[in-house]
Formats: sequence, structure tokens, C-alpha cells
Amino acid sequence: MSEFRQALRIALLYGTLATLWVLLSDEGLRLVGNRVDVAAWQSYKGLLFVAVTSLLLYVLACLHLRRINQELRRRQQLDASLRQAAAVFESSLEGVLVTDAEQRIVHTNPAFTRITGYTAAEVLGRTPNMMKSGRHDQPFYEQMWHCLQQHGEWRGEIWNRHKNESVFPVWQCIRAIHDEQGQLSHFVAVFSDMSAIKRSQSELDFLAHHDPLTTLPNRLMFTQRVEHALERAQQDKRTGAVFQLDLDYFKHINESLGHRIGDQLLQAIGERLQHPAEGMTLARLGGDEFGLLCEHCSSVEHAAALAQSILQVFRQPFRLEGKELFIGASVGISLYPSDAQTAEQVLRNADSALSRAKSRGRQTYAFYSQELTALASQRIELVSALRHALERGELCVHYQPIHDLASGRVLGLESLVRWERPGYGLVPPDEFIPIAEETGLIAAIDAWVLRQACRQMRRWLDEGRALEFVAVNVSSRSFGTGELDARVAATLEETGLPARHLELEITESAVMEDPDAAQALLERLGGLGVQLSIDDFGTGYSSLLRLKRLPVHKLKIDRGFIAGLPSHEEDMALTMAIIALARSLGLQVLAEGIERPEQAEFLLQRQCLQGQGYWFGRPQPAATLALPGPDATP
Ligand code: C2E
Ligand code: MG
Ligand code: MG
Repeated sequence: MSEFRQALRIALLYGTLATLWVLLSDEGLRLVGNRVDVAAWQSYKGLLFVAVTSLLLYVLACLHLRRINQELRRRQQLDASLRQAAAVFESSLEGVLVTDAEQRIVHTNPAFTRITGYTAAEVLGRTPNMMKSGRHDQPFYEQMWHCLQQHGEWRGEIWNRHKNESVFPVWQCIRAIHDEQGQLSHFVAVFSDMSAIKRSQSELDFLAHHDPLTTLPNRLMFTQRVEHALERAQQDKRTGAVFQLDLDYFKHINESLGHRIGDQLLQAIGERLQHPAEGMTLARLGGDEFGLLCEHCSSVEHAAALAQSILQVFRQPFRLEGKELFIGASVGISLYPSDAQTAEQVLRNADSALSRAKSRGRQTYAFYSQELTALASQRIELVSALRHALERGELCVHYQPIHDLASGRVLGLESLVRWERPGYGLVPPDEFIPIAEETGLIAAIDAWVLRQACRQMRRWLDEGRALEFVAVNVSSRSFGTGELDARVAATLEETGLPARHLELEITESAVMEDPDAAQALLERLGGLGVQLSIDDFGTGYSSLLRLKRLPVHKLKIDRGFIAGLPSHEEDMALTMAIIALARSLGLQVLAEGIERPEQAEFLLQRQCLQGQGYWFGRPQPAATLALPGPDATP
């Protein structure tokens, strides 16, 4: 358009000049010919010249004025848009920071001050490094500068440090600005505070993973926790349990008392069940269903005990708005990894166990597998009966004689505990010692047996029986407590039994669990003057080096090796090796479980000089034992 106007202007100028030339010069006149009155023309020529020149000047002045007007309008528009830009800059919710090419801050807006806490005066002339949060590493900044150099722009999330030292996330866009010569002149950074967004994100995240009523984890989060627990269990070779719990007849509460009370009851139940223990997660799975994940559930008994403690929570009434409410629950238990390998399976199993518990009359628990349910209830019963066995005097000690294989003489006796459980008869220790060890009852049992055995031995000595020692078994758990020596010293003192008449049987595994502590304890026990033997030798993993250093007096060959004598070649070889080992270490050696005379003979021939077993006598109460009289030589 402007080119067209320029061409028009030039055409006008040339046209006017041509007209003037035609009208004013003699040649022009001649060219026009004789059609005009030349004399008149000559007299008007000056006037005409002035008129045409004025017209030309007028046209040129108009054109110039128009250009000035246009420029003025353009400037006014520019001013207006600059004012608008300044208003946007000032009132923008996004922080703006302008630096020069050397990154010195030259301009900020009010939003910058609001977001960072710094006023313009505090930052002008400084570099944006002053706001570094320390959350990003060097490669992060390198990548940012690389991007600015390559593309002239960088966008991303960055953490800055507020004037009050807190750190906060911003979404930032940095642009490199170049002047007309293409030289870098400024950087402009525009950023928005993301703290609120992050907060609402985490609130949303919380809502997605929690039940709004009880604020407990919901099914989604519980499933994730179970998944992680399964992974950890596989890595650490651990076992755990998932309990699914359903309130009995919760619908009736909602229907009769309204949903408000129903909601309050669910909240109260959530609070009561909340377990602060490590490795436990309580969740509301929906409606009246709760889930409990226990990552450290070592056994069926442990799981059953936990289920019972869950049910116990419901024995007390809930007090809501002045009303007392009783509600029961049923619990389904699934153990992992034995029952299932995936979270989905574990939860499904817990659910079917829950159905089983409900069908068994509610207010009870059930395992996914029926056998486990039966076993667990037997065990629970056993534990509670065993707890009372000591105080009710249901335990007793039987004694099995230990013989000198050459002369057949009784050298001593091993004390073996028995439980006369009402309605069950005599329960052998193999059936209750492991449970006593798991529940910690073993310490009391061992202490009681020790006192009984020492008292009995004192009585036999007082009767003049020619006995050298009474042997008492020490469980690895009692041994591990490290206070055994104090207990033994106190018992010897209390019963008046000289220490040399007491032999303590320690298992190989107890010694090897913590060999250094065992060594120290055995030395303290040896210091008391008691005899020490290693029971069930050959079944553990004794280090020969360690064995050499232990202050023990005797090895008791496990009866498992004796059973195969004298025909089973491997048993023969192992028995002979243990005898040779004991003799070479200067230890006495005893064979357990001798049931036939040829076994005793075989052992005697191989220089094993002591033995015990059904061939010589079964364990029996002190009263029925036939013991060497006062005249026998010890
Ligand atoms: P142990 O210390 O190795 O005891 C020897 C076991 O072998 C006893 O079993 C005994 O009855 C049995 N026995 C003896 N002779 C024969 C035989 O000829 N053939 C066969 N087959 N067995 C024979 P019991 O009394 O059932 O005790 C089992 C284990 O229970 C004991 O093994 C011991 O480890 C533990 N125990 C027994 N009493 C106590 C106690 O008071 N405290 C602790 N901590 N453990 C005990
Ligand atoms: Mg023993
Ligand atoms: Mg033994």
C-alpha cells in the first residue's frame, strides 16, 4: 500500500513538472501550437506559475502533515501498550525477575516479593543464586543453561529458598533476550508458586489412599502395603499375616440408631484397633470391614493370639452419645507366604477365612486352612494350660539313671520334666518344651526343675546313696539370658547341694548361637564347680576349634546315632568318630538311648564308658527308682 502511495507521489511530482514545462517554456508553447493567444498567455504566465507552485507545495505539506499524524498515533499506541504491559507486570500473580547478561537482577515485580519474601531493593544487583534451595544438583543447572543456550528458553519445576529460609517449588520459564545486534542482553524469568498445588496434590493423594471417616488407610493403600510386605517377606525369609475383620450385625445399628451413630461407632472401633506397633497396618476396607496387616507374625500361635486380642477389643462396650453399645466381630486370617504369594490371593484367602469364621457362629476367628484353625486353637489352649501348670503343681520330674558301662553301676541321674495334664495324662517334654520356649515360660520351668533336682539329689546324698551327680537340662533360651550362673549358685546355696554333684546339659545349638557369650557363661559356671556336658552331640554344627576351648567335661552322643548300632555303618562310623574326638579332647563321653545290650557292648568296646537308655531304665519318679544303697562304692 505504502509503495503504491510512493509511486503516486512521484507520478504527481513528474506530472506537475511536465505541465509547468509545457506551459512555461517557449518550446512548450510551440508544442501546444497556435491554439492559444500567446500574448495573453505571456501576461498570465507568472500568475499561473505561482498558482501551480503553491498547489504543489500545498500537496507536499499535506502529505508531510499526514506522516507526522501517523507517527504521533503510533507513539500513542506504543505508550498505551507499554502502560498496559507495565500494569500486567505489576499486577501479575506470577513472579517476574529480569537480569542483565551477567545475571545481575535489574528488575522484579511485586509478585516476586510476595512469593520469595525479598523486596526489589534487597535483590537488585545480586544474582538469582541467592535463592538456590540446595535441592538440585550440578547436572540440573548444567542442563538448564544448556537448554537456554540452545533454545533461548527453559521451562521446568525448580525449588527456591524463601527469605525465611523455607524452600518452595515454583514452575519457572526463563527466556534469553537479545538486542537488535543479536547480542544477549537480558534474562527474563517468570515463575508461579506451586506450594498450594503441591499441597492440594498431597491432599488428593491422601484422599485417594485413606478412608475419610476414620482417616485409616483404605483398601487401595492396604493392598499396596500387603504387596510390599510380600516382597519384603520373600527377601528376608519372613512370615506375616493378614487379618480381615467384619463387624457382626452392624446393619442393625445403622437401621435402629441411624447412620450418624453407625459412623461414630466405626470411628471408635478404628481408634481401639489402631496398633502403634511397628510393621502393623490397620485399614478400613469398606463398610464394616477392617484389615490388619502384621508383618512380624512368626507362627500360627502368634497369629491366633493376635486374632484373640482383636476380638478382645470388642468385649468392652462402646459409649456413644450416652448409649452403651455392644458389637462383635469375626476375623479371617491368611498367612503369607505359606497361604499365598500375591497380595490379591492373600486378601482373597483372608476373606474366605472370614466367611468360615462367620459360619462358625461369629465372634470368633478362622484361618484360611482348616487344619491351621484346629492346630491354632489346640496350641492356644495348650499355652494357657501350660501357664497354669506350674502354679497348679502339674509338673513333675522323672529321673533316668546313667550307668557306668563297664561295671553297670549307676553313676548319676538325668532329670527330665513331665506334665501331668488333667484329662490328657503324662505329656512328654517334646510336646510342651518348644511352646514353653516360644512363650518364655521355659525360664520358670527350668528354674523349677533345677530346684527339684538339686533338692532330690541332696536328699539322696543325705540317704547315703552312692551317686556322683544329677544332670539337669538347660534350654537354649534359658542359657541365652546369661544369668544362669547366678540362678545356679542361688539354687545350690538354697538346697545345700555341693556344686560337684550337679551337671548341666547344654545343647550344641545354644553354644553355637553366640559362641563368645556361651564361652564366658560356661567359664563362670565352671568356676562355680558344676560339671558341664554337651547334650545331643552330633546334631548341631559345633566348631571343633570352639569345642576345644569350651570348659565342658562331657559329650552326650545323640540317641539318633545309637539307634543304628551295631549294624548301621554310618552310625557306627559317626559314633566312633565322636568317641575318638571326645577322648582326644580329654572329655568323658556318654551314649544316650541304649535300648539293647549289644549297643552297650559295642560302645564299651569303643571306649565309651557311660550310657543311659531304656535297656538300663526308663525315666521314672524318684520314689520308684532302684538306686544303689549306702554300701555301694561311688
Ligand atoms: P534329652 O535331654 O536328650 O533327654 C533324653 C531323652 O531321651 C528323654 O526324652 C528320654 O526319655 C529319652 N530316652 C532315654 N532313653 C531312651 C531310649 O532308650 N530310647 C528312646 N527312644 N528314648 C530314650 P524326654 O524325657 O522325652 O525328653 C526329651 C527332651 O526334652 C530332652 O532330651 C530334653 O532336651 C528336653 N527336656 C526334658 N526335660 C527337660 C527340662 O527339664 N528342661 C529342658 N529345658 N528340657 C528338658
Ligand atoms: Mg538331656
Ligand atoms: Mg539328649
